[in-house]
Amino acid sequence: MPSSRTGKLVILSGPSGSGKTTVVRKLLALAEPSLKLSVSATTRPPRAGEVDGKDYHFLSTDEFQRRQAAGEFLETFEVFGNGYWYGTLRSEVENRLSEGISVLLEIDVDGAMEIVKQYPAAVTIFLSPGSHAELERRLRGRGTEPEATIQRRLAAAKRELAAMNQYKYQIVNDAGAVNETVQRLADVIQNDSGDDAL
Ligand code: 5GP
Repeated sequence: MPSSRTGKLVILSGPSGSGKTTVVRKLLALAEPSLKLSVSATTRPPRAGEVDGKDYHFLSTDEFQRRQAAGEFLETFEVFGNGYWYGTLRSEVENRLSEGISVLLEIDVDGAMEIVKQYPAAVTIFLSPGSHAELERRLRGRGTEPEATIQRRLAAAKRELAAMNQYKYQIVNDAGAVNETVQRLADVIQNDSGDDAL
């Protein structure tokens, strides 16, 4: 009899400084092959060391728009502030879920809320660097930045942290305890029943 079990759609967001990249790498090492990362498309040029098809599908603006018109994306956003487009491709998500493989999306807050409209059972997780006071302490830690730069970064982080309560789970990534954070994430993903409303 064919299995009716579908994979879980997991959405992870968090401000820069929350340690998302390291956490995602370690989580995949722990949970693969039953959890796969969705590789987003973007019009942003690759940074040094980034690999096409692995870090992102790097597309020209024309190609991005063509795929958008063809309905190939679950969501697209011009991510606030940098002028580039990002999008989640259906081809990274739909087949895997129906094969019983869970899919991890590492996307911004706007994209996350758009996906939840389509997948209300998605497991939404916000990774935070701790309290606002802790973030301020970390940003001031080096003591080399001008006050105006610190204030700009704090304002950006505050905006992102304000969206935290829209996520089903909030996990604090304490400095020096990354392995515990990864284990908590793995537990949350495994135990989520998919029943609860956001
Ligand atoms: P970066 O350019 O630094 O790789 O990513 C910038 C922001 O875009 C991050 O907050 C990241 O989570 C977000 N992002 C990456 N891929 C997607 C996507 O497919 N959709 C949306 N909405 N945001 C994305």
